[in-house]
Amino acid sequence: MSALDGIRGLLLDMDGVIYRGPQLLPGVPAWFDFLRTQGIPFVLVTNNSSRMVQQMSAHLAHLGLTIAPDEILTSAQATALYLQEHAPAGATVLPVGHEGLRTALYEAGFTLVDAGPADYVVAGVDWQFKYDTIKRAGQAIRAGAAFIGTNPDRTFPAHGEIWPGAGTMLAALTAYTGVEPLIIGKPALPLIELALNRLHLAPAQAALVGDRLETDILAGQRAGLLAILVLTGVTQRADLATTDIRPDLVFQDLTELRQAWPSDA
Ligand SMILES: [Mg+2]
Repeated sequence: MSALDGIRGLLLDMDGVIYRGPQLLPGVPAWFDFLRTQGIPFVLVTNNSSRMVQQMSAHLAHLGLTIAPDEILTSAQATALYLQEHAPAGATVLPVGHEGLRTALYEAGFTLVDAGPADYVVAGVDWQFKYDTIKRAGQAIRAGAAFIGTNPDRTFPAHGEIWPGAGTMLAALTAYTGVEPLIIGKPALPLIELALNRLHLAPAQAALVGDRLETDILAGQRAGLLAILVLTGVTQRADLATTDIRPDLVFQDLTELRQAWPSDA
């Protein structure tokens, strides 16, 4: 009897699970061959809001992995889907962020505005973030716009450095307005719930595979999924001794997870 026995589909984090920097991790093509051969459906879920799913798919193809755009869910796309479910028709959105976010919101049918008034201010990572951004978006929030954040990551690793992430921009807007954003990405639940909807699975039928305790594993546990940690990214085995966040299963990499998968035979 394995904890994996009832699992019918997977949510897979991307950075630190499938690739690291400019390279696929070892065993990844074989892992996806396995999932497709076994008929195990999956969604790649990422807090990265800067790229469109088509760009993510093209990036993976460049690395040698064939993944369709509709097998990827970014926090930007999840934010647009969330607003489609919850916002009134014709709602106006003031976006703070990049092409990935702006395109997702536009394609979801929202009217994008550069200054308030707006029904929503939606913020993700923004390479051009500046004083005027805080002023325009913050004034709209102060005037009553609902404040949504794509993901809470204050930093992310890039080019061997630690760079400011969406959470840093959200913190600036919160400092100005006194308003905390509703978060869509991990460890919040909307991104996870939207991915489960796409797979037509209940939480107990799905597992989330990730490399970060405080985002992936926490999100999986909060949402009621089996939470699987792989040690190919941020978290090292020694980190498990110093945290209250307990993954259900820990594997060295996706190859070890594949070897542990129960066979139907
Ligand atoms: Mg990751």
